[in-house]
Amino acid sequence: MKLLTLQVITLSILVATTGFASANAPVGIVIHGGAGTIERSKMTEEQQKNYEVTLADAVNKGYELLAAGGSSLDAVTLAVTVLEDSPLFNAGKGAVYTWDETHELDAAIMTGQKRNAGAVASVTNVKNPILLARAIMEQSEHVMLTGKGAEQFAAAQQLDLVENSYFNSEFRYEALKRAKQAQQKLPHQAAIVADPNWKMGTVGAVAIDNSGNLAAATSTGGMTAKRWGRVGDVPVIGAGNFADNSSCAVSGTGHGEYFIRYNVAADICARVKYQGKSAASAAREVIDELLQVGGTGGVIVVDNKGELSWAFNTPGMYRAKRSEAGTVVEIFADQSEKAGK
Ligand code: ASP
Repeated sequence: MKLLTLQVITLSILVATTGFASANAPVGIVIHGGAGTIERSKMTEEQQKNYEVTLADAVNKGYELLAAGGSSLDAVTLAVTVLEDSPLFNAGKGAVYTWDETHELDAAIMTGQKRNAGAVASVTNVKNPILLARAIMEQSEHVMLTGKGAEQFAAAQQLDLVENSYFNSEFRYEALKRAKQAQQKLPHQAAIVADPNWKMGTVGAVAIDNSGNLAAATSTGGMTAKRWGRVGDVPVIGAGNFADNSSCAVSGTGHGEYFIRYNVAADICARVKYQGKSAASAAREVIDELLQVGGTGGVIVVDNKGELSWAFNTPGMYRAKRSEAGTVVEIFADQSEKAGK
C-alpha cells in the first residue's frame, strides 16, 4: 500500500515537472478553415450557413471520436479530412490555383507524445494530403516528402489518387484571375497580400484525448497564384503546425512566409513551456507580434490541460471548438473576443 502511494506520488511529481500526459484528461477539439478578410457584408446568409454547417460537422465528428475514447491523432485526421473534402475551404477539394492554373497541396500532422511528425509539400494528385502526411509519419522513416516522390509514396500506400482537375472550382479560379491582375499592377509580392481574402485559407485541427495526448493537423492549397514550387508554412514543422505534450498543440493559417520566419506554432508552445504562460495568452502575444511586422493570420490552440483557444489578427477566421462545455462555431472577429474566450 505504502509502495503504491509512493509510486503515485512519484508519478504525480513526474507529471507535474515534465507536463507529460495525464490519464482521464478532459477531451476537446478546435478546428479552423482559414483566416482572412472575411466580412459579413461580403457573405450571403446562405454562404454563412454553409460554412457553419461544415465546420460543425467536422468538429462534431472529431469530438465524437474523442468522446468514444479515440486518440487525438485520429480526431484531427478525421476533422481535417472532412474539411479537405468540402469545396468551401482551401485544402483538398477547393484548393487555390497556382500561377500555372494547377493545384499543389501541402499538409502536416504531429503528435505530442514523442513529437512524431509527417509532412508533405507540393503534391498534385493526392485526394487527402493529410492522410499522406500521416502515412509518412507512420509508415516511413522520414518526416517530409515532396512532389513526385511523395506521390509515388502515396501510390505505394494505396491512398486515393485523383486528377489535378478534381481540385478545380469556379470561385478559386476567379480568385486566381484577380490575383494575376493585381500582380501586374503591383509588382511587389508583399503589397498584394494586403488583401488576404483571395490569397489564403487553410484548414486545421488540434485536439486532446482522454490520455492527455495532443495532436495537430493542417492542410492547404497554399496561396493563390503561387509560383516556382513555392512551399508555405504548413509542412514546415513548428511554423504552421506543432504538438508537444509538455505544452500545447497549434495549427495556423495565414501568410505562410511570416509563419515560417517567426516559427509561429513552436514559438507559442515555447512560451507556454518556458515562460509558464497560458496557451491562450501565448497565442495572443505571438499573433499580435506577427501583425506588427506585417504578418496576417491566426492560430487554434489546445494546451495539455485541455484549454481550447484561438487568436487571429484578421477580420475573420472560420473556426469551431467543442469540449464538455459545448460547441462554438464562429466566423467573424466580432462574434467573440479575438482571443477566443
Ligand atoms: N498558410 C498557408 C500558406 O501560406 C496559407 C493559409 O493559411 O491561408 O501556404
